[in-house]
Amino acid sequence: MSEVRAVRNLRLCSKDCLCLYVCPTGATDTETGQIDFTKCIGCGACSKACPSGAISMVPYKYPKAQVKDELVVDRLKRIINSKVEQEQIAHYIKDNSTDEKEKLLAKVLMRANRLISEDLYREAGYMLPQNKNTKDFLNELLEKDSTNKETIEKLLTLIDFHE
Ligand code: SF4
Ligand code: SF4
Repeated sequence: MSEVRAVRNLRLCSKDCLCLYVCPTGATDTETGQIDFTKCIGCGACSKACPSGAISMVPYKYPKAQVKDELVVDRLKRIINSKVEQEQIAHYIKDNSTDEKEKLLAKVLMRANRLISEDLYREAGYMLPQNKNTKDFLNELLEKDSTNKETIEKLLTLIDFHE
């Protein structure tokens, strides 16, 4: 069994289904957008066939995440807050401006700020599934969110946490 598995970026997928035709195990489902990790053997055929660059091969088991200095995480969180505020302002302008060009510019700024925030969160150690932050976050969610209890508990069982 290969050390990698396929993942699909839905934002890039044009749903032409080429990955579906080349997959030898039926792991990719373009209806749901999911690639079944348990069926994927990591052959990479889908990734090579995809004309949109929507499929990447990722390690089956991620290496341990680097420990971030608290000061760095604190600074990253401050920048994230600022990006979230900028996104909200852009959102307001997009919804309320009467100038079409201004609306368009606000829309672009909204998306740009969202992407930067996501990157910064990743840098701050909050987006790697095996990270302790994710485990703490899920446990916190479990206490607050009883409607998704079963899903959260399953995630806590399935993810191979490093810490
Ligand atoms: S890597 Fe191979 S087995 Fe996995 S989804 Fe792509 S084509 Fe299917
Ligand atoms: S080949 Fe790429 S673009 Fe086409 S359905 Fe699959 S993931 Fe989407």
